[in-house]
Amino acid sequence: MGGVLKKTAMHAVHALIFAYLAMQALAPAPLSAREAFPAGSICHTSDKKSVGVEVRAVDAAGWSCKGAEFDWEAERHFIRFDFEDGRWAGEPPRFIEFDRHPFGKLTITALGREGGHATRVYGFKDTQLGTSSLKSIVELPRLDEPTEAMVMVLDDGYWPEALVQGELVTEPSVRSTAGVIHLFAALLCGLLLAPMIFDFVFFRALRESFPLFHALFCVMASLQTAAVSGLLPLVSGLTYEAELIITYLSLDMLVIATILFALNFIEPRYLTRRHRQILFGITALTLVNGLATTLFPAAFGLWLDHVYFGALLIILTAYFTVLGQAQRGGSKMAPYLIFGFAPLASIVLFQLTSVYVPSLRIDFDETWPQNFALLFEVVATALAVAQRFMTLRRERDKALNAARDLEVLSELDELTGLLNRRALEARYPLLVRQGFHAMAVVDLDQFKSINDLYGHPVGDRVIRSAAWALSPGDEEDMIAFRIGGEEFLLLLRGKDAAQKAEGRRKAVTARIMAEVDEVQFPVTASMGYLDFAAIATLPEASFENLYAHGDRLLYAAKCAGRNRTFSEKLEDLEPNPASPRSVAA
Ligand code: GH3
Ligand code: MG
Ligand code: MG
Repeated sequence: MGGVLKKTAMHAVHALIFAYLAMQALAPAPLSAREAFPAGSICHTSDKKSVGVEVRAVDAAGWSCKGAEFDWEAERHFIRFDFEDGRWAGEPPRFIEFDRHPFGKLTITALGREGGHATRVYGFKDTQLGTSSLKSIVELPRLDEPTEAMVMVLDDGYWPEALVQGELVTEPSVRSTAGVIHLFAALLCGLLLAPMIFDFVFFRALRESFPLFHALFCVMASLQTAAVSGLLPLVSGLTYEAELIITYLSLDMLVIATILFALNFIEPRYLTRRHRQILFGITALTLVNGLATTLFPAAFGLWLDHVYFGALLIILTAYFTVLGQAQRGGSKMAPYLIFGFAPLASIVLFQLTSVYVPSLRIDFDETWPQNFALLFEVVATALAVAQRFMTLRRERDKALNAARDLEVLSELDELTGLLNRRALEARYPLLVRQGFHAMAVVDLDQFKSINDLYGHPVGDRVIRSAAWALSPGDEEDMIAFRIGGEEFLLLLRGKDAAQKAEGRRKAVTARIMAEVDEVQFPVTASMGYLDFAAIATLPEASFENLYAHGDRLLYAAKCAGRNRTFSEKLEDLEPNPASPRSVAA
């Protein structure tokens, strides 16, 4: 019994030893990091938080270098970027950009080829925003020796794939975090640029140049604000030198835009020739002063500020003097410009004082006061532009109305209030297009004898009575014109045009009889009536041709004994003089 047991126990021990040896033989031998993580690979693994990077970073077992199959529930994820030989030879990557997902802690260790390492630790809030709120940027640790690999340890991160898919770069796509102050500056730039929209609308409406100078001013004000508030270096890859040039020159250009705006904006009658010369002079001075001191500062040595501000003092003094005189002269626009430019000028004066009287030791950052002063000027001048726009618009409307009134007057006959021959010729083509297709030429019979018998004033009243009898009133299909002394022309449309014309001709006699008591006999009228509907659209159916034709018909009616109508329906413009139909009264 004891022997069997002992034998069994021996077998078991042998089996265990065999199993152990077999496992030893099957298990892979520990690899070096270089063999486990080939150059250019991105590998990852996950574990508990108690397992440190030093353990995982060198032990290749359990790492996966293909795909991104993470153990999502793990507390800690390791991601290792092994650099390709020569890939980052010049400069190692300095940033990693990746999709933004929350995490607890991100520890990044740079491993050097010579054994050195450096580590940086980030909380989620420490990451910088990328090109959008969906991207994060993190700066990588740096080594003095060539970097072999970057190992990232992500704690409590639910999207470790983001790091695997992250991009290593030497320059971040977004330079650095913008502060609230930069956002504010950007807002201010937007406000400074907004009036430009109105400027272009005003320019289109008025065709005056001052809105364009206002727009130039807005651009320069916004550039100046962007430059002094630190927005420009933040959003552009400008060199420091270029940035300085923009900062200085944009202020000078702004002053130039201000002066040119004033020159074009102040009501011309309040600027004398001398004023204009002064404004042009200080524009040139500003340009020379700005270019010389900005581009060749060395030439001025220690006198640079004195020269620059000295010139500026002359410029400002001249500007305000001219505008003050314009205001005293009665300019309504000058006060806006004086008032608008005053805050900025005060700041310049302040800087100027500190240059000339250094003992005052004014220690004051004028950046933001200056930005606000610019906004103030832009708003004040934009209001002035709007005001000017309204005034010009009103003046223009008034002039236009006056012109229209004159035009109407010039088309009316003074004696009768009917439209005159000028109106007839101007409107004729349109009226034909509106369907007027018949013309009646009416002339009073033996009118000379009325003048002779009763005098000219009575003759005038007869003409007026005749006009009233012919005037259309509410009739839309007829228009009456007085085309000569006691000669009228009716334009008609519609089926009963001929009857209407004939009715009016007869009404003339009745009306004169009723209204002019002095005249002891009936005053009749003769008429040539022409229906040109069939040929109205032909080019030869001009007013002149048709009128000549109507006049011939009238003459025929006169010759046939007066007080009658000769009418004709025109089929072409080669009339047969024998054909007119006579309608005797
Ligand atoms: P006929 O029947 O052939 O037309 O004879 P008539 O006397 O009417 O001849 P005509 O048409 O040639 O004469 C027109 C006259 O009308 C000539 C002119 O002295 C007169 N006259 C022209 N304009 C005016 C005006 O505005 N007022 C007055 N009172 N007379 C005018
Ligand atoms: Mg007559
Ligand atoms: Mg006549």
